[in-house]
Amino acid sequence: MVSNVMVLGSANADLVVEVPRRPSGGETLLGSDLHLFPGGKGANQAAAAARAGAATRFLGCVGRDAHADFLLQNLADAGVEVDGVRRGERPTGTAMILLTPDGENSIVVSPGANYSIDVAMAEELAPAWLAADVLVLNLEVPLETVVHVVGRAAAEGVRVLLNAAPAAHLDPVVLQACDPLVVNEYEARIVLGSDREATFEELAADLLAAGARSVVITLGAAGAVVGDADGVEVVPAHRVEVVDTTGAGDAFVGATACELARGANLRDAVRFATAMSAIAVTSKGAQSSYPDRDAVEAFIR
Ligand code: ATP
Repeated sequence: MVSNVMVLGSANADLVVEVPRRPSGGETLLGSDLHLFPGGKGANQAAAAARAGAATRFLGCVGRDAHADFLLQNLADAGVEVDGVRRGERPTGTAMILLTPDGENSIVVSPGANYSIDVAMAEELAPAWLAADVLVLNLEVPLETVVHVVGRAAAEGVRVLLNAAPAAHLDPVVLQACDPLVVNEYEARIVLGSDREATFEELAADLLAAGARSVVITLGAAGAVVGDADGVEVVPAHRVEVVDTTGAGDAFVGATACELARGANLRDAVRFATAMSAIAVTSKGAQSSYPDRDAVEAFIR
């Protein structure tokens, strides 16, 4: 059986400059040479699923510019099918990232073509995403589109993994389609619209009570909490030498989707994803840090 993961989501060119400090209003600062990296949660998650071994297709929208060519080539190199990607009139999504020595990066995201993925475009792509074993979405594309696609996919029996990032409050109808909802702690609180004091296990239980069929809360170096009808359980992270955590959450999402599409249960899928994302934080970059399946299996053994 070929496991089939579809990712409907964002692709961004990450433009990174190291600066000594954040510039103030009206100030011009000199920074390092420009670094260009492939990014965007959707593209990262698709690259991770493909590296983990799933037959993966990325569905999204890019512009008619050089950044688009760069992003599509990177996805193709990772083994992702990109024939469903639309080219729109708006520029390719961009993240402008200022890296400061204090580690507090300042980021401006210009969604560009990612925001051209409206309900009509998603419907044109429906034959592709309705054929998924696991359909992955995140919130870097218009929320209205995500709400539509999630609802229709779940109604037609497609398993939906929704990564509610960046954070947004979600309607119970959307949560009921998520199997699983994947969020970090901050996103979990925003999804719930609640700031009550709660342990991670209680947060997972709250998300299940709010309607999610299953839930995974990622906790960085502390691992992840998995919750479903069988209960709530912590899956610890691996201890590794951390070099760069950029894109760890996306590696985790892509790997989880791959394993679910291969027929794993959620806990085993999360164990695999925990290993894949642990390896990802040991080298620089997002997509460039994602190991292949053999490396993840060797790490687990
Ligand atoms: P980002 O958006 O920065 O990628 P996130 O908040 O979505 O991050 P995290 O919870 O930081 O996601 O990380 C996802 C997973 O990656 C964690 O559940 C864990 O398994 C793994 N991970 C992250 N940081 C570390 C670390 N320092 N050591 C080991 N594993 C890590």
